[in-house]
Amino acid sequence: MKFNPGEPVGSFCSRLAAAYGLRSASYFAELFEFSFWGLLNGGPRDMRIFAEITGVPTTRLDVGVASVGRDVMINGHRFARRFVDPLRCRLCPQCVIDGMGPQHNPTRSYSKVEWALKSMRCCPIHDRELMTFKGRTWQDSADFAWVVRENLKLIERSTSQLRSSPFEPYVSLRLNEDLVSDAWLDALPLQTAIHFTETLGAVMRHGSEPDLETLTSSEWVDAGREGIAVTSAGLAAVKEVLHEIASRPMPRGRKSLTMVFGRLAAEVLEFENDPGYREVISIMREVVGE
Ligand SMILES: [Zn+2]
Repeated sequence: MKFNPGEPVGSFCSRLAAAYGLRSASYFAELFEFSFWGLLNGGPRDMRIFAEITGVPTTRLDVGVASVGRDVMINGHRFARRFVDPLRCRLCPQCVIDGMGPQHNPTRSYSKVEWALKSMRCCPIHDRELMTFKGRTWQDSADFAWVVRENLKLIERSTSQLRSSPFEPYVSLRLNEDLVSDAWLDALPLQTAIHFTETLGAVMRHGSEPDLETLTSSEWVDAGREGIAVTSAGLAAVKEVLHEIASRPMPRGRKSLTMVFGRLAAEVLEFENDPGYREVISIMREVVGE
């Protein structure tokens, strides 16, 4: 069984457990005297034992998705908990079906790290909406082969299409490759780049006070599409759109960032102590002329 590029180590362990005919990855770990939870979070002892079992060196066993304090690390990129859903397993039904191969072997299809991010709503390869399944615990949700086995009929029957935009492949590329570039967006930490891009897109489409909590997946994908067209074009393009938003009619008097940019300002100010947000906030301040 091979460890695939872009596959979280938990998915690999889960498929191995299923290939042995065991009921869960946690049980498999118990038999080999390591902890599945520890493996999911890159525990050195658990990684070492798993490397011995699989013959894949620890240096190649990317953890993928790991919990670090209140945050989640995905391939070395740090995300606040609200951008990730560790209690749910998300997957592209077509990737899973294709992954099973001609023998229709569920243990051959594997999870991809980018599916852990809430902002990935569809598969850029298949233009399919990602499906979400809830396990009882994080260990269940990380037990990919278990999730696939439990939900195979639903996965096979699903037909929901969702056309991706340049946003999804961008997120996937940033997560999976060490991007070396001097583009404005690429210099921002990934969480900031994603958060700012899709919120800007939502504000452009729905006005300065969009009800982000009720947007559908398809509306979010459209927001990502509109946002990335601007943010990937560079700083000048971003400033131009911010100027447009700032020139919408509003009450006279001293203007705060939140008055001018509404939800967009509220969103970035909430994370002002996280890396990259100050840069975005100072650009917004500059546009308002503070
Ligand atoms: Zn897919």
